[in-house]
Amino acid sequence: MVVKEESSCVYKNQDAPVEARVKDLLSRMTLPEKIGQMTQIERTVASPAAITDFFIGSVLNAGGSAPFEDAKSSDWADMIDGFQRSALASRLGIPIIYGTDAVHGNNNVYGATVFPHNISLGATRDADLVRRIGAATALEVRASGAHWAFSPCVAVLRDPRWGRSYESYGEDTGLVCEMTSLVSGLQGVPPEDHPNGYPFVAGRSNVVACAKHFVGDGGTDKGINEGNTIASYEDLEKIHIPPYLKCLTQGVSTVMASYSSWNGTRLHADRFLLTEVLKEKLGFKGFLVSDWEGLDRLSEPQGSNYRNCIKTAVNAGIDMVMVPFKYEQFIQDMKDLVESGEIPMARVNDAVERILRVKFVAGLFEHPLTDRSLLPTVGCKEHRELAQEAVRKSLVLLKNGKNADKPFLPLDRKAKRILVTGSHADDLGYQCGGWTKTWFGLSGRITIGTTLLDAIKAVVGEETEVIYEKTPSKETLASSEGFSYAIVAVGEPPYAETMGDNSELTIHFNGSDIVTAVAEKIPTLVVVISGRPVVLEQVVLEKIEALVAAWLPGTEGQGMADVIFGDYEFMGKLPVSWFKRVEHLPLDAHANSYDPLFPFGLSLNSKPVSD
Ligand code: BGC
Repeated sequence: MVVKEESSCVYKNQDAPVEARVKDLLSRMTLPEKIGQMTQIERTVASPAAITDFFIGSVLNAGGSAPFEDAKSSDWADMIDGFQRSALASRLGIPIIYGTDAVHGNNNVYGATVFPHNISLGATRDADLVRRIGAATALEVRASGAHWAFSPCVAVLRDPRWGRSYESYGEDTGLVCEMTSLVSGLQGVPPEDHPNGYPFVAGRSNVVACAKHFVGDGGTDKGINEGNTIASYEDLEKIHIPPYLKCLTQGVSTVMASYSSWNGTRLHADRFLLTEVLKEKLGFKGFLVSDWEGLDRLSEPQGSNYRNCIKTAVNAGIDMVMVPFKYEQFIQDMKDLVESGEIPMARVNDAVERILRVKFVAGLFEHPLTDRSLLPTVGCKEHRELAQEAVRKSLVLLKNGKNADKPFLPLDRKAKRILVTGSHADDLGYQCGGWTKTWFGLSGRITIGTTLLDAIKAVVGEETEVIYEKTPSKETLASSEGFSYAIVAVGEPPYAETMGDNSELTIHFNGSDIVTAVAEKIPTLVVVISGRPVVLEQVVLEKIEALVAAWLPGTEGQGMADVIFGDYEFMGKLPVSWFKRVEHLPLDAHANSYDPLFPFGLSLNSKPVSD
């Protein structure tokens, strides 16, 4: 029988100071209860018995929702509340914290608003917009039962060959720092006197944020995912650490360690960076979570000598272990390591204090279950309008007219006949990119939203005939005189992490050939939908009339039509230098040899129609 703690305990008193509650609860915990708090398991293995019997501290879902496919937010909330009830049934009734990769809206949930990816937001240069997106995301995440978003990724992108380029706000440290306003959106804005580094979560409409991946993930050699960042400590401090400082001033509650290495040492094993720098020097008081099976990767072959990996990572400063390959093994090994003194009890206590602190700050003890009154916020009109605003502001105009004095954009919405074509013109999944519905992303009508084609059709006049062909047919190109202009949308299919590493960066599905074939016959606007700069051949560039980088806009495709047809001005600025040839990578905007196709920060303007 489970003997429950008295309801008069300090830790159960919501008016007691957080630190007193943490100390009181910690003093009541057994070693298995402490180890349980340090364990985060994946939802498909999270049975009620596992959660209750092992005192599991956290459950998560991976990037995707499969096999939970088109489950609505209320289904997610039911599932998560079920886990929570199991946790509350344990002796001390410590709530779980449920985490999800809500990295551009609550992107795993059908019908949620899918905001543009971070690379798009970097192009907007609009910190307040990003904060508002954070607040909207928090509502949609909370409505679906989760308490913790593994976001923002504050990587400083130094090489677009990296498969996670689009998760970064851009190549410039200052730009990434500005965009950390997402933290204040997700968690709420802390008061001015809030202690630096101490976790903060404003209320039940907010979520715990997670700055990731500490540190240097965007600076690996040749942009190899999980690779090695070769840099002096001074360079880390100059380039990669500042965004974390900005997150800490906003009370970011959690930080995730990077799979990557710094000068050959895996971050998960780097006590200097995790403990001496992040916790001691920068004063981080929240908790540090490992990445998915991050400990297993400390040995070759992966997962071998796991006991040793645990010892190294926990002693280096990891507080919560995300998805130990076999969690029962992790729990057993941890117990042995603590009992043998290889992991000091003080280290375990520190880790658990940090986890409990965040749970108290986030109000999980008082409000462990989903507030169902938030459900209508999921995919609501206001959030979709916000996403549309973000899309509008993120578009970067790279070319407008073959002659500078004869701008091609905005397009004429009263044109008689127009051609819309290309692999990306009518694909919602491609617009959303990776981390949408699944980890690696999908193609097609994967959720509720508007493609570029839908948006064009909604904007043009009734008299305008819109011909859509994914690949333009010979007949269409032969009868090309009838078209006023063509819009060709090309780019990259979705990908995530290592599968997105790419040293060629060409436009997929013969995109360049299609652009060339169309542009030879019809005045053409090219819209590139991609997570990063791609190869643009000079001959192609010369043939087309206009070029727009639309990045990964998400579900609200109308934002693209708003600007292309001149209801709004182009405002986006390049968040990353556009290379001429992949052989030139990585580019350094501060080097004398810097010779990009389009420089960092470039923004051309088009006059809105009303001017
Ligand atoms: C990624 C993290 C992510 C985690 C959980 C890892 O593979 O590197 O960014 O938060 O999975 O899905």
